[in-house]
Amino acid sequence: GAIPPIDFRALLNDEQFNAVTAEPGPLLVLAGAGSGKTRTLTYRVAYLLSKGVKPSEILLLTFTNKAAKEMLHRVHDLTGVEPARFWGGTFHSIGHRVLRIHGEAINLPRNFTILDADESESLLKQAVEEQDKLFFKDKTNPRPGPLFSVLSLSRNTQLSIDDTVVQYFPQYSEIKMALPAFASAYAAKKREQNVCDYDDLLEHWLTLLIKAPEVAAYFAHRFRHVLVDEYQDTNTLQAQIIDKIATHHRVMAVGDDAQCIYSWRGADFENIMTFPERHPGTVIHRIETNYRSTPQILALANGVLNAQPKGRHFDKELRASRANAQKPLVVQCIDDREQGDFIIKRIRSLMEDDGVSANEIAILYRSHFVALETQLALSKAGVPYQITSGVKFFERQHVRDLVGLISFVYNPSNQTGWNRIAVLLPKIGEKGAQKIYSAALDHAKLMQRDFIDALATDDVKSKVPKDAKDEWDSFCSSLAEVAETMKNDKPFKVVEMAIDGWYGDYLRGAFADYIDRLEELKAMVGFAQRFDEMQDLLAQIVLMNGETSDRKVDPDAEAIKLTTVHQAKGLEYDVVFVIGLADGMFPGRRAIEAGDVEEERRLFYVAVTRAKNELYLCYPKVATRAGPGGMLLQPSRFITELDEKLYDPLRLKRSFGW
Ligand code: ATP
Ligand code: MG
Repeated sequence: GAIPPIDFRALLNDEQFNAVTAEPGPLLVLAGAGSGKTRTLTYRVAYLLSKGVKPSEILLLTFTNKAAKEMLHRVHDLTGVEPARFWGGTFHSIGHRVLRIHGEAINLPRNFTILDADESESLLKQAVEEQDKLFFKDKTNPRPGPLFSVLSLSRNTQLSIDDTVVQYFPQYSEIKMALPAFASAYAAKKREQNVCDYDDLLEHWLTLLIKAPEVAAYFAHRFRHVLVDEYQDTNTLQAQIIDKIATHHRVMAVGDDAQCIYSWRGADFENIMTFPERHPGTVIHRIETNYRSTPQILALANGVLNAQPKGRHFDKELRASRANAQKPLVVQCIDDREQGDFIIKRIRSLMEDDGVSANEIAILYRSHFVALETQLALSKAGVPYQITSGVKFFERQHVRDLVGLISFVYNPSNQTGWNRIAVLLPKIGEKGAQKIYSAALDHAKLMQRDFIDALATDDVKSKVPKDAKDEWDSFCSSLAEVAETMKNDKPFKVVEMAIDGWYGDYLRGAFADYIDRLEELKAMVGFAQRFDEMQDLLAQIVLMNGETSDRKVDPDAEAIKLTTVHQAKGLEYDVVFVIGLADGMFPGRRAIEAGDVEEERRLFYVAVTRAKNELYLCYPKVATRAGPGGMLLQPSRFITELDEKLYDPLRLKRSFGW
């Protein structure tokens, strides 16, 4: 039907209006956080429809599928056009759709299957072992996981494997010559089995656009308008897809170079800087008014931007449009626990006294382990919360391994825990793990000895595959030490002992980012300090997992959001708590050691600009995860480098309340 008239003038400011109603052609909207970039893109879709463009002629690329859905719902409200009539979503989901229909043009059969991350890694492992049987035997070589990361980054950045190793993975320099052959073997395997990994959804899409000109021409004709949100976080592969699909240059990209936070996945904000070169005649639109946040929050956000070293970025300043309010609070807490207590009290008062809805409150952090205590505090206080981001702390592989190990030692009849850890040994699969388990069980019964002691006997060791024998002894003695500690000491000591033993060694060999993972496991030590009994610790972990597992979460339920800053991109909340703002936590230690904290600073900027009305920046004075007594922390440099006039300090004193 006809589109009802829309009063764009009334709904948009002048800058937004000009962008929304601009002549078709390359358009780049560069603007700071909360200035209405996403809104501009949404209204642009409505505007195009009002000019007679058909929904099928518009391609909308967003960072999450949820974002696309929300934008198209808004379009529906404005125009009455059903969301289902558009192609809108992430690059991966659109790539998938394209390949299902047109993949045959590059010999990709229609019925291909998509591999998840685990499946991709194990196929790569298989491909490598067919080339070089001994590759993974050598402990100095990367395991399949890290190897996959190298190849994946090289594909997303479109750099050669050689350059990728030199720039991002210097630790693998010695073996880099072997990698291209592995990459081809892996690609051949995928072809043979008619499967795609996630990167293929982009890579094959680009190949299709290059190798099948008739398909490329069809798309250029079909999608007369291409719109891209969060353009600063596109990687080279994605930028090339856009360039190839929009050879007509009717492309509108919106972004904020100061919010580029995915360079570890190959995002490169050079893409935004060079957009005008790649799309001649680009008209740049800037929006300077911020509609989201109070002037006080914006002043602080501007302070963060001004602390950036001079370099290659667009200068911008956010202009406030809202009424004055209180300054952001910088909250110094004694430790994680007090940080959690503070947040609970504050949230209670926000919800009960000020009538703020739980959905409008978010707790943001750099990585999940930072939020353990807060999570516990929320659980205990019975405040409903949701963890809305990717893999949660207790679901992380290494965390589950460690919990598996400990719960197995706590209760050796728990075979799940056993299966989880035994398969980490070389050449032991599920069947082997069960075989060893039964042997140990028989032995323990027969000799009336402890199950863990039985593991170390020759009887049982004879069931262990040759390749695992070396590790077996340290595995058994580590389990015995953990068991011994469990008898005599507090749970946190047990956790410490487990990390210091065999599992710590395994971690070092298994993950390229083992330093980060080790740090997360140490957070478990701090967490465990709250418990006197092992069973309480284990029960709490199960409980916290249950509360946050996706299956039980109703996305519309009233609940406080706990999320990493990465996952909060593009979103907004009335009240935002950023927690764990100590140097070494945010910015993280690795960034500090590498001497480059700029990406972390942009991440901090993203965090503070999520807040509409109230912003709390919290940091613990002492890191409990270093053990009792703890380690003294410094407030984040991102706070200390700010002008003190930009916030109010709040120093908590546990015994006096606040
Ligand atoms: P981010 O950089 O975080 O993605 P953004 O630039 O995409 O932010 P939006 O999310 O589009 O910003 O807008 C921020 C908030 O300001 C939203 O609540 C939006 O509805 C509101 N807003 C934007 N423009 C206007 C306007 N002209 N009038 C009223 N409200 C507006
Ligand atoms: Mg946005």
